[in-house]
Amino acid sequence: MKEITPMKAIRQKCLDCSCEQLSEVKECSIKNCALYPFRMGYKLDENGNRRKGKPLSEEAKKKATDRLRKLAEERKIKNLSLI
Ligand code: SF4
Repeated sequence: MKEITPMKAIRQKCLDCSCEQLSEVKECSIKNCALYPFRMGYKLDENGNRRKGKPLSEEAKKKATDRLRKLAEERKIKNLSLI
């Protein structure tokens, strides 16, 4: 049997519960379900707040910002060359 992560298992259970309709998982109103806080790929932080994925370190934020800035500049140059 193929191994799956706990988050993927939660996703599969929510989809099973909602007749494979992602919109129904998004709109789920069963707040007393144990899986409710973990719908849509959310995890809980140490304060019990929902968060998506891992929090970025300051270094990772700077790298991502630099990468996006570089892509934006490349696009700008590419678009200007088409004129
Ligand atoms: S959170 Fe909602 S969709 Fe997911 S298993 Fe619970 S009741 Fe079903």
